[in-house]
Amino acid sequence: MDRQNANPSVAPVGVSLGRIFGIRVRLHPSVLVIVALILVSLAQGAFRNWHPDWPWWTAWATAAVATLLFLASLLTHELAHSLVARRRGIAVPQITLFVFGGVAEIAAEPADPRSEFVIAIVGPLTSVAIALVFAFFGAWLVPFDFAARVAADPAAAMAELTPVATICVWLAPVNLALALFNLVPGFPLDGGRVLRALLWWWSGDQVKATRLAAGCGRAFSWLLIAWGVVNLFGGRALEGLWFIVIGVFLGNAATSGYQQLLVRRSLHGLVVADLMRTHFESVEPTRTLTDFVDGLLLRSAQTSWPVVENGRAIGVIAQRDVAKTHEADRARLLVRDVMRPLGSVPVLAPSLAGPAALERIAEMADEPLPVVDRDTIVGLLHASDIFRWLSLHRLHSVG
Ligand SMILES: [Zn+2]
Repeated sequence: MDRQNANPSVAPVGVSLGRIFGIRVRLHPSVLVIVALILVSLAQGAFRNWHPDWPWWTAWATAAVATLLFLASLLTHELAHSLVARRRGIAVPQITLFVFGGVAEIAAEPADPRSEFVIAIVGPLTSVAIALVFAFFGAWLVPFDFAARVAADPAAAMAELTPVATICVWLAPVNLALALFNLVPGFPLDGGRVLRALLWWWSGDQVKATRLAAGCGRAFSWLLIAWGVVNLFGGRALEGLWFIVIGVFLGNAATSGYQQLLVRRSLHGLVVADLMRTHFESVEPTRTLTDFVDGLLLRSAQTSWPVVENGRAIGVIAQRDVAKTHEADRARLLVRDVMRPLGSVPVLAPSLAGPAALERIAEMADEPLPVVDRDTIVGLLHASDIFRWLSLHRLHSVG
Protein backbone atom coordinates (compact mmCIF):
# COMPACT_ATOMS: atom_id res chain seq x y z
CA MET A 1 0.00 0.00 0.00
CA ASP A 2 2.71 2.43 0.84
CA ARG A 3 6.40 2.39 1.27
CA GLN A 4 8.37 3.37 4.23
CA ASN A 5 11.92 4.16 5.06
CA ALA A 6 13.75 2.21 7.73
CA ASN A 7 12.69 2.91 11.31
CA PRO A 8 9.09 2.24 10.37
CA SER A 9 6.20 3.12 12.63
CA VAL A 10 5.05 -0.44 12.01
CA ALA A 11 7.26 -2.41 14.34
CA PRO A 12 9.36 -5.02 12.50
CA VAL A 13 7.69 -7.91 14.30
CA GLY A 14 5.82 -10.81 12.77
CA VAL A 15 6.21 -14.16 11.16
CA SER A 16 8.77 -14.53 8.40
CA LEU A 17 7.42 -16.21 5.27
CA GLY A 18 10.87 -16.57 3.74
CA ARG A 19 12.45 -14.64 0.91
CA ILE A 20 11.32 -13.66 -2.58
CA PHE A 21 14.03 -12.26 -4.87
CA GLY A 22 16.22 -11.97 -1.76
CA ILE A 23 13.68 -9.76 0.05
CA ARG A 24 12.42 -11.00 3.40
CA VAL A 25 8.62 -11.20 3.53
CA ARG A 26 6.93 -10.87 6.93
CA LEU A 27 3.36 -11.10 8.15
CA HIS A 28 2.60 -8.64 10.94
CA PRO A 29 0.19 -10.15 13.50
CA SER A 30 -2.31 -7.36 12.71
CA VAL A 31 -2.77 -8.87 9.24
CA LEU A 32 -4.95 -11.49 10.96
CA VAL A 33 -7.56 -8.75 11.50
CA ILE A 34 -7.87 -8.04 7.77
CA VAL A 35 -7.75 -11.76 6.92
CA ALA A 36 -10.59 -12.44 9.37
CA LEU A 37 -12.64 -9.47 8.12
CA ILE A 38 -12.32 -10.45 4.45
CA LEU A 39 -12.82 -14.16 5.08
CA VAL A 40 -15.99 -13.68 7.13
CA SER A 41 -17.45 -10.94 4.96
CA LEU A 42 -16.94 -13.08 1.82
CA ALA A 43 -18.06 -16.43 3.26
CA GLN A 44 -21.05 -15.04 5.18
CA GLY A 45 -21.69 -11.96 3.02
CA ALA A 46 -20.80 -11.51 -0.66
CA PHE A 47 -20.32 -15.15 -1.71
CA ARG A 48 -23.30 -16.27 0.38
CA ASN A 49 -25.52 -13.67 -1.31
CA TRP A 50 -24.29 -14.55 -4.79
CA HIS A 51 -24.55 -18.29 -4.19
CA PRO A 52 -27.37 -19.11 -1.76
CA ASP A 53 -27.30 -22.70 -3.11
CA TRP A 54 -23.63 -23.36 -2.18
CA PRO A 55 -22.99 -25.63 0.81
CA TRP A 56 -21.23 -23.77 3.66
CA TRP A 57 -17.89 -25.47 3.00
CA THR A 58 -17.83 -24.34 -0.64
CA ALA A 59 -18.49 -20.75 0.46
CA TRP A 60 -15.74 -20.88 3.12
CA ALA A 61 -13.19 -22.65 0.90
CA THR A 62 -13.79 -20.18 -1.94
CA ALA A 63 -13.53 -17.28 0.53
CA ALA A 64 -10.26 -18.67 1.91
CA VAL A 65 -8.70 -18.94 -1.56
CA ALA A 66 -9.93 -15.43 -2.45
CA THR A 67 -8.41 -14.04 0.78
CA LEU A 68 -5.06 -15.71 0.10
CA LEU A 69 -5.05 -14.39 -3.47
CA PHE A 70 -5.83 -10.91 -2.10
CA LEU A 71 -2.77 -11.11 0.18
CA ALA A 72 -0.72 -12.34 -2.78
CA SER A 73 -1.97 -9.32 -4.78
CA LEU A 74 -0.81 -6.96 -2.00
CA LEU A 75 2.55 -8.70 -1.88
CA THR A 76 2.98 -8.42 -5.65
CA HIS A 77 2.22 -4.67 -5.44
CA GLU A 78 4.95 -4.24 -2.79
CA LEU A 79 7.37 -6.48 -4.71
CA ALA A 80 6.95 -4.20 -7.72
CA HIS A 81 8.00 -1.16 -5.64
CA SER A 82 10.87 -3.14 -4.13
CA LEU A 83 12.29 -4.56 -7.34
CA VAL A 84 12.21 -1.18 -9.10
CA ALA A 85 13.84 0.46 -6.04
CA ARG A 86 16.55 -2.17 -6.10
CA ARG A 87 17.17 -1.65 -9.81
CA ARG A 88 17.70 2.02 -8.94
CA GLY A 89 20.36 1.09 -6.39
CA ILE A 90 18.30 1.27 -3.19
CA ALA A 91 18.37 -1.75 -0.90
CA VAL A 92 15.05 -3.25 0.23
CA PRO A 93 15.66 -5.56 3.19
CA GLN A 94 12.06 -6.59 3.80
CA ILE A 95 8.37 -6.32 3.01
CA THR A 96 5.83 -6.50 5.84
CA LEU A 97 2.16 -7.20 5.23
CA PHE A 98 0.02 -5.65 7.94
CA VAL A 99 -3.55 -4.62 8.64
CA PHE A 100 -3.64 -1.68 6.17
CA GLY A 101 -1.78 -3.43 3.37
CA GLY A 102 1.91 -3.82 2.78
CA VAL A 103 5.03 -1.87 3.55
CA ALA A 104 8.23 -2.29 1.57
CA GLU A 105 11.02 -1.01 3.76
CA ILE A 106 13.26 0.93 1.46
CA ALA A 107 16.64 1.63 3.04
CA ALA A 108 17.06 5.17 1.73
CA GLU A 109 15.20 8.06 0.14
CA PRO A 110 15.31 7.99 -3.65
CA ALA A 111 18.16 10.24 -4.76
CA ASP A 112 16.24 12.07 -7.49
CA PRO A 113 12.62 12.81 -8.43
CA ARG A 114 12.75 10.47 -11.42
CA SER A 115 13.57 7.46 -9.24
CA GLU A 116 10.89 8.47 -6.74
CA PHE A 117 8.32 8.74 -9.54
CA VAL A 118 9.12 5.36 -11.08
CA ILE A 119 9.32 3.52 -7.73
CA ALA A 120 5.96 5.00 -6.64
CA ILE A 121 3.94 4.61 -9.84
CA VAL A 122 4.88 0.98 -10.46
CA GLY A 123 2.81 -0.19 -7.45
CA PRO A 124 -0.61 1.03 -8.66
CA LEU A 125 0.29 0.01 -12.24
CA THR A 126 0.95 -3.51 -10.95
CA SER A 127 -2.41 -3.56 -9.17
CA VAL A 128 -4.12 -2.47 -12.41
CA ALA A 129 -2.27 -5.26 -14.24
CA ILE A 130 -3.40 -7.81 -11.63
CA ALA A 131 -6.99 -6.52 -12.00
CA LEU A 132 -6.73 -7.02 -15.77
CA VAL A 133 -5.39 -10.57 -15.35
CA PHE A 134 -8.33 -11.52 -13.09
CA ALA A 135 -10.76 -9.72 -15.42
CA PHE A 136 -9.33 -11.67 -18.35
CA PHE A 137 -9.68 -15.04 -16.59
CA GLY A 138 -13.10 -14.01 -15.30
CA ALA A 139 -14.26 -13.14 -18.81
CA TRP A 140 -12.91 -16.47 -20.06
CA LEU A 141 -14.67 -18.47 -17.31
CA VAL A 142 -18.11 -16.81 -17.31
CA PRO A 143 -20.74 -17.72 -19.95
CA PHE A 144 -20.27 -15.77 -23.20
CA ASP A 145 -23.56 -13.89 -22.69
CA PHE A 146 -22.80 -13.11 -19.00
CA ALA A 147 -23.25 -9.33 -19.38
CA ALA A 148 -26.71 -9.78 -20.90
CA ARG A 149 -27.67 -12.27 -18.17
CA VAL A 150 -26.51 -9.89 -15.42
CA ALA A 151 -28.58 -7.13 -17.00
CA ALA A 152 -31.64 -9.41 -17.14
CA ASP A 153 -31.37 -11.11 -13.74
CA PRO A 154 -28.21 -10.30 -11.74
CA ALA A 155 -28.91 -12.77 -8.92
CA ALA A 156 -29.45 -15.72 -11.27
CA ALA A 157 -26.42 -14.83 -13.39
CA MET A 158 -24.10 -14.60 -10.35
CA ALA A 159 -25.48 -17.84 -8.87
CA GLU A 160 -24.36 -19.76 -11.97
CA LEU A 161 -20.69 -18.81 -11.58
CA THR A 162 -18.23 -21.52 -10.58
CA PRO A 163 -16.05 -20.89 -7.49
CA VAL A 164 -13.02 -20.00 -9.66
CA ALA A 165 -15.07 -17.54 -11.77
CA THR A 166 -16.49 -16.05 -8.56
CA ILE A 167 -12.98 -15.43 -7.21
CA CYS A 168 -11.94 -13.70 -10.46
CA VAL A 169 -15.10 -11.58 -10.54
CA TRP A 170 -14.34 -10.42 -6.97
CA LEU A 171 -10.56 -9.91 -7.25
CA ALA A 172 -10.56 -7.84 -10.47
CA PRO A 173 -12.48 -4.84 -9.05
CA VAL A 174 -10.78 -5.21 -5.65
CA ASN A 175 -7.33 -4.81 -7.21
CA LEU A 176 -8.57 -1.90 -9.29
CA ALA A 177 -9.88 -0.25 -6.11
CA LEU A 178 -6.50 -0.87 -4.46
CA ALA A 179 -4.78 0.90 -7.36
CA LEU A 180 -7.19 3.86 -7.22
CA PHE A 181 -6.93 4.25 -3.43
CA ASN A 182 -3.14 4.23 -3.65
CA LEU A 183 -3.22 6.83 -6.43
CA VAL A 184 -4.85 9.42 -4.14
CA PRO A 185 -2.27 12.24 -4.22
CA GLY A 186 -1.59 12.32 -0.47
CA PHE A 187 1.83 11.41 0.89
CA PRO A 188 2.74 8.68 1.95
CA LEU A 189 0.35 6.91 -0.45
CA ASP A 190 1.85 6.08 -3.84
CA GLY A 191 -0.08 8.93 -5.46
CA GLY A 192 1.34 11.30 -2.84
CA ARG A 193 4.84 10.11 -3.70
CA VAL A 194 4.13 10.68 -7.38
CA LEU A 195 2.94 14.20 -6.49
CA ARG A 196 6.06 14.75 -4.38
CA ALA A 197 8.26 13.57 -7.26
CA LEU A 198 6.57 15.98 -9.68
CA LEU A 199 6.78 18.93 -7.24
CA TRP A 200 10.39 18.03 -6.43
CA TRP A 201 11.28 17.83 -10.13
CA TRP A 202 9.49 21.11 -10.80
CA SER A 203 10.84 23.09 -7.80
CA GLY A 204 14.14 21.32 -7.19
CA ASP A 205 13.31 21.39 -3.48
CA GLN A 206 12.66 17.98 -1.92
CA VAL A 207 11.75 19.37 1.51
CA LYS A 208 9.15 21.78 0.12
CA ALA A 209 7.74 19.07 -2.17
CA THR A 210 7.43 16.68 0.78
CA ARG A 211 5.74 19.35 2.92
CA LEU A 212 3.10 19.98 0.23
CA ALA A 213 2.52 16.29 -0.50
CA ALA A 214 2.28 15.52 3.23
CA GLY A 215 -0.25 18.37 3.56
CA CYS A 216 -2.38 16.70 0.87
CA GLY A 217 -1.95 13.40 2.74
CA ARG A 218 -3.25 14.98 5.95
CA ALA A 219 -6.17 16.60 4.08
CA PHE A 220 -7.10 13.19 2.63
CA SER A 221 -6.81 11.60 6.07
CA TRP A 222 -9.29 14.17 7.44
CA LEU A 223 -11.69 13.34 4.58
CA LEU A 224 -11.47 9.65 5.48
CA ILE A 225 -12.11 10.43 9.15
CA ALA A 226 -15.09 12.67 8.26
CA TRP A 227 -16.49 9.95 5.99
CA GLY A 228 -15.99 7.46 8.82
CA VAL A 229 -17.96 9.68 11.22
CA VAL A 230 -20.78 10.02 8.66
CA ASN A 231 -20.90 6.21 8.37
CA LEU A 232 -20.72 5.77 12.12
CA PHE A 233 -23.78 7.92 12.69
CA GLY A 234 -25.47 6.47 9.61
CA GLY A 235 -25.67 3.11 11.37
CA ARG A 236 -22.66 1.45 9.67
CA ALA A 237 -20.43 1.33 12.73
CA LEU A 238 -17.81 -1.14 11.46
CA GLU A 239 -17.20 0.66 8.14
CA GLY A 240 -17.19 3.98 9.99
CA LEU A 241 -14.55 2.84 12.49
CA TRP A 242 -12.48 1.32 9.72
CA PHE A 243 -12.36 4.62 7.77
CA ILE A 244 -11.52 6.54 10.95
CA VAL A 245 -8.67 4.17 11.86
CA ILE A 246 -7.21 4.30 8.32
CA GLY A 247 -7.58 8.10 8.33
CA VAL A 248 -5.71 8.47 11.64
CA PHE A 249 -3.01 6.06 10.47
CA LEU A 250 -2.46 7.91 7.18
CA GLY A 251 -2.45 11.32 8.87
CA ASN A 252 0.24 10.17 11.31
CA ALA A 253 2.26 8.59 8.53
CA ALA A 254 2.13 11.83 6.51
CA THR A 255 3.38 13.90 9.44
CA SER A 256 6.08 11.47 10.53
CA GLY A 257 7.26 10.96 6.93
CA TYR A 258 7.84 14.69 6.61
CA GLN A 259 9.58 14.94 10.00
CA GLN A 260 11.81 11.98 9.19
CA LEU A 261 12.92 13.70 6.02
CA LEU A 262 13.74 16.90 7.95
CA VAL A 263 15.76 14.97 10.51
CA ARG A 264 17.62 12.99 7.84
CA ARG A 265 18.34 16.17 5.97
CA SER A 266 19.58 17.86 9.13
CA LEU A 267 21.92 14.97 9.93
CA HIS A 268 23.46 15.03 6.49
CA GLY A 269 27.25 15.23 6.67
CA LEU A 270 27.41 14.34 10.37
CA VAL A 271 28.97 11.20 11.84
CA VAL A 272 28.55 9.47 15.20
CA ALA A 273 31.70 11.13 16.57
CA ASP A 274 30.01 14.54 16.15
CA LEU A 275 26.91 13.49 18.08
CA MET A 276 28.09 11.15 20.85
CA ARG A 277 28.66 11.87 24.54
CA THR A 278 32.33 11.82 25.42
CA HIS A 279 31.94 12.66 29.11
CA PHE A 280 31.14 9.38 30.78
CA GLU A 281 32.58 7.11 33.44
CA SER A 282 33.54 3.46 33.21
CA VAL A 283 33.71 0.68 35.76
CA GLU A 284 36.23 -2.11 36.49
CA PRO A 285 35.00 -5.72 36.04
CA THR A 286 36.22 -6.68 39.53
CA ARG A 287 33.93 -4.37 41.50
CA THR A 288 31.06 -5.99 43.36
CA LEU A 289 27.55 -5.03 42.27
CA THR A 290 26.80 -3.51 45.69
CA ASP A 291 29.82 -1.28 45.32
CA PHE A 292 28.89 -0.42 41.72
CA VAL A 293 25.27 0.44 42.60
CA ASP A 294 25.94 2.46 45.76
CA GLY A 295 29.26 3.98 44.74
CA LEU A 296 28.71 4.78 41.06
CA LEU A 297 25.31 4.05 39.50
CA LEU A 298 23.21 5.93 42.08
CA ARG A 299 25.66 8.86 42.18
CA SER A 300 25.41 9.59 38.46
CA ALA A 301 22.84 10.27 35.74
CA GLN A 302 24.63 7.76 33.51
CA THR A 303 22.44 4.70 32.80
CA SER A 304 24.87 2.50 30.88
CA TRP A 305 28.51 1.93 31.89
CA PRO A 306 31.42 0.65 29.83
CA VAL A 307 33.36 -2.07 31.64
CA VAL A 308 37.09 -1.47 31.18
CA GLU A 309 39.95 -3.80 32.08
CA ASN A 310 43.57 -2.67 31.61
CA GLY A 311 42.45 0.13 29.31
CA ARG A 312 40.44 -2.24 27.10
CA ALA A 313 36.65 -2.17 26.90
CA ILE A 314 35.31 -5.68 27.56
CA GLY A 315 31.58 -5.09 28.06
CA VAL A 316 28.69 -2.89 29.09
CA ILE A 317 26.58 -2.89 32.25
CA ALA A 318 23.31 -0.98 32.46
CA GLN A 319 20.82 -0.27 35.20
CA ARG A 320 18.48 -2.92 33.77
CA ASP A 321 21.21 -5.60 34.01
CA VAL A 322 21.56 -4.85 37.72
CA ALA A 323 17.79 -4.78 38.21
CA LYS A 324 17.62 -8.44 37.09
CA THR A 325 19.74 -9.58 40.08
CA HIS A 326 18.51 -10.24 43.62
CA GLU A 327 19.63 -7.64 46.09
CA ALA A 328 20.92 -10.34 48.47
CA ASP A 329 23.34 -11.63 45.78
CA ARG A 330 24.86 -8.27 44.92
CA ALA A 331 27.60 -8.35 47.59
CA ARG A 332 29.19 -11.45 46.00
CA LEU A 333 28.37 -10.83 42.31
CA LEU A 334 30.98 -8.91 40.32
CA VAL A 335 30.36 -6.49 37.47
CA ARG A 336 32.04 -9.06 35.23
CA ASP A 337 29.34 -11.65 36.09
CA VAL A 338 26.44 -9.43 35.07
CA MET A 339 27.83 -7.29 32.23
CA ARG A 340 27.04 -7.98 28.60
CA PRO A 341 30.34 -8.77 26.77
CA LEU A 342 31.23 -6.31 24.03
CA GLY A 343 30.81 -8.93 21.29
CA SER A 344 27.17 -9.48 22.24
CA VAL A 345 25.94 -5.86 22.29
CA PRO A 346 25.25 -3.68 19.24
CA VAL A 347 27.89 -0.96 18.89
CA LEU A 348 28.43 2.01 16.60
CA ALA A 349 31.57 3.07 14.77
CA PRO A 350 32.59 6.72 15.26
CA SER A 351 32.65 7.21 11.49
CA LEU A 352 29.07 5.92 10.92
CA ALA A 353 26.88 8.51 9.13
CA GLY A 354 24.29 10.34 11.25
CA PRO A 355 21.13 9.13 9.44
CA ALA A 356 22.31 5.49 9.66
CA ALA A 357 23.08 5.94 13.38
CA LEU A 358 19.59 7.32 13.95
CA GLU A 359 18.06 4.20 12.37
CA ARG A 360 20.21 1.91 14.52
CA ILE A 361 19.48 3.77 17.72
CA ALA A 362 15.75 4.38 17.23
CA GLU A 363 15.04 0.82 18.40
CA MET A 364 16.94 1.29 21.67
CA ALA A 365 14.41 3.31 23.76
CA ASP A 366 16.86 5.61 25.50
CA GLU A 367 19.56 3.12 26.35
CA PRO A 368 22.73 4.39 24.70
CA LEU A 369 24.81 2.43 22.22
CA PRO A 370 28.55 2.33 22.89
CA VAL A 371 30.73 3.88 20.22
CA VAL A 372 33.73 1.61 19.75
CA ASP A 373 37.02 2.41 18.07
CA ARG A 374 39.18 -0.73 18.01
CA ASP A 375 39.16 -1.91 21.66
CA THR A 376 38.16 1.39 23.22
CA ILE A 377 34.73 2.79 23.97
CA VAL A 378 35.19 6.39 22.86
CA GLY A 379 31.64 7.58 23.45
CA LEU A 380 28.01 6.76 24.17
CA LEU A 381 25.14 7.75 21.90
CA HIS A 382 21.53 8.09 23.06
CA ALA A 383 18.62 8.70 20.68
CA SER A 384 17.91 11.86 22.65
CA ASP A 385 21.48 13.13 22.01
CA ILE A 386 20.70 13.31 18.30
CA PHE A 387 17.62 15.44 18.88
CA ARG A 388 19.43 17.58 21.43
CA TRP A 389 22.20 18.20 18.93
CA LEU A 390 19.65 19.11 16.24
CA SER A 391 17.65 21.40 18.51
CA LEU A 392 20.80 23.36 19.35
CA HIS A 393 22.26 23.47 15.86
CA ARG A 394 20.05 22.96 12.87
CA LEU A 395 16.44 22.00 13.29
CA HIS A 396 15.23 25.57 13.82
CA SER A 397 16.67 26.57 10.46
CA VAL A 398 14.81 24.00 8.33
CA GLY A 399 11.14 23.60 7.62
ZN1 LIG B 1 2.19 1.06 -3.21
